[in-house]
Amino acid sequence: MMGMTWIFVVVGVLASTTSAVPYPGDFLPTPKSYSGYSLLRTEPLLREDLARSLLILDGMRGIHFWKYPLVNRSSDILTSPAQLEHIQALLATLGVSHDVIIDDVKDLLAKENDVGVNGYSALEEELERAVPDKSFFQRYQRYEAIKNYAKTLASQDSRVTYENIGSSSEGKEIGLVKISSGGGNKPAIWIDGGMHAREWISPATATYIMSKLTNKEPASESLLSSFDFYIVPIINVDGYEWTHTGDRMWRKTRSRNNGRCIGVDPNRNWGFHWAEQGSSTDPCSDIYHGPRAFSEPETLSVARAIKARPNIKLYLTFHSYSQLWLVPYGYARNTRPVDYNELVRLAQVGKNALSATYGTSYRLGTAPDLLYPAAGGSDDWAKGSAGIKYAYCLELRDTGRYGFLLPSNQIVPTGEETFNGLAAMAKELHRTLKKQQTRPVGGPYVNADKELNSPSGGEAEYKL
Ligand SMILES: [Zn+2]
Repeated sequence: MMGMTWIFVVVGVLASTTSAVPYPGDFLPTPKSYSGYSLLRTEPLLREDLARSLLILDGMRGIHFWKYPLVNRSSDILTSPAQLEHIQALLATLGVSHDVIIDDVKDLLAKENDVGVNGYSALEEELERAVPDKSFFQRYQRYEAIKNYAKTLASQDSRVTYENIGSSSEGKEIGLVKISSGGGNKPAIWIDGGMHAREWISPATATYIMSKLTNKEPASESLLSSFDFYIVPIINVDGYEWTHTGDRMWRKTRSRNNGRCIGVDPNRNWGFHWAEQGSSTDPCSDIYHGPRAFSEPETLSVARAIKARPNIKLYLTFHSYSQLWLVPYGYARNTRPVDYNELVRLAQVGKNALSATYGTSYRLGTAPDLLYPAAGGSDDWAKGSAGIKYAYCLELRDTGRYGFLLPSNQIVPTGEETFNGLAAMAKELHRTLKKQQTRPVGGPYVNADKELNSPSGGEAEYKL
C-alpha cells in the first residue's frame, strides 16, 4: 500500500509538468534542445501491470518512449534531466532495474548528421563506384532536397516519373516516384518511408533504393524487367520537416485535432482494425490513432494511390529501429493470415540476402510475436484491405546503440543491405508469379476489411 501511494505521488509530480498551453512546442524560435537528455533501458517488464504503470508517462513533457513499455520486453525511455530523478524513483518503486544506455543524447545529435566523408570505412568507399550520387547519402537530407532529388531523377531518366499524390496538413506535396522500364502491365512493388517523422533512416533508405534502381547496373535492370516500382520516400512530410526545424524526437503528423496537442500517429491511422490494440485515444499520446480512420491527409493520399494501382504484388514500409522483418497481422495476437507461411517464406529470402551483405541480423515474425499488437498500421491495411498478398514492415537499423539517432555514415550500408534484401525477394517473387500463371489467379488472402465494409465506415467515407 505504501508502495502504491508512492507511485501516485511520483506520477502526480510528473503529471503536473505536462503542458497546459495549446499545442506545446508548436512555435519554437529554435529547435528544441535535447541537451542533458538521457536514454534509459529497463530490464524486460515481466508483468503486464509494470508495463501499464510505466505507460502513465506517455505524452508527458520531457519524456519520449523510444520503445513502448510492454510485457516481456525492455522499454527505452528518453528523459529530460528534470524528469530523470522522478522516473528513476518510479522504476525503483516498481522494482524494475534499468541502465542508462545514452548519457547525453546531445552528443549523438551533434554527430548523427555530421560524420561526413571521414566517417566512411574502406568498405563504404568501395561502394562509391556503384552509387555515383553517394555524396547525397552522406547526410540525412531535408524534405525539399529529397523532393528535388526525385524530380531531378524524373527529368533525367525517361523511366522515372514523379507525381504529387496529395497535400499534407500543412500543404506540403507528397511525392510518388514510379520507376518503370515500360513494356506492358507488369506486376509492381510499392515502397514507402517516413511514416514516423523521427525515423530518419527510413526516408534515406527509400531514396537510396531509388538511386540503386536507376543506376543502370545489371542487377537493377533485371529487377526493372520484371517489376514496376512505386516509391514514396516520405509520407509524413510535415512531421519529417519538423524533426529538422523544431523537435528531433517528433513522431506524429502535424495536424491540429483539438485544442491540446498536435498530430496523429500515422501508423495507427489506417482503416483496418483501426483504434484497436496498441493505439491511444489520447491526442497527446505518441500513438494517438486520430479522430477517425484516415483522418490524416497523408495516410489517405497514400491509401488512395495504392488502391488505384491494382497490380501491386508486394508492399514494403520502412520504419526504425530494431532490425525486424514484420509480417502481418499486427493488430492483435494470434491473427495470422491464412497464407502466413508463404509470406514468411518470401520474407526469409529477403532477410537472408540482407544479412548476407554485412551480417546485420534481423528477426522475422508478426508484430505481436516480436513487439506488441499495434492496430491501424499500413502493412496490415495493405494486406487486409488492399489485398496485396505480400506486405511487410521493416524496422531498419539499429537495435538501440543509436536508436533514432543513427549516424549518417550508416545510410549507405543500410541502403545497400536493404536493397539486396529487396532484390532477392523480388527475384523470388518473380519466379513465384511465373509459376502461378499456370494456375487460377486470385490469392488466398484474408480480406477482413472491417472498416471499408462496415455500415458506419465504407469506402465512400474515406474517398479512397
Ligand atoms: Zn515507425
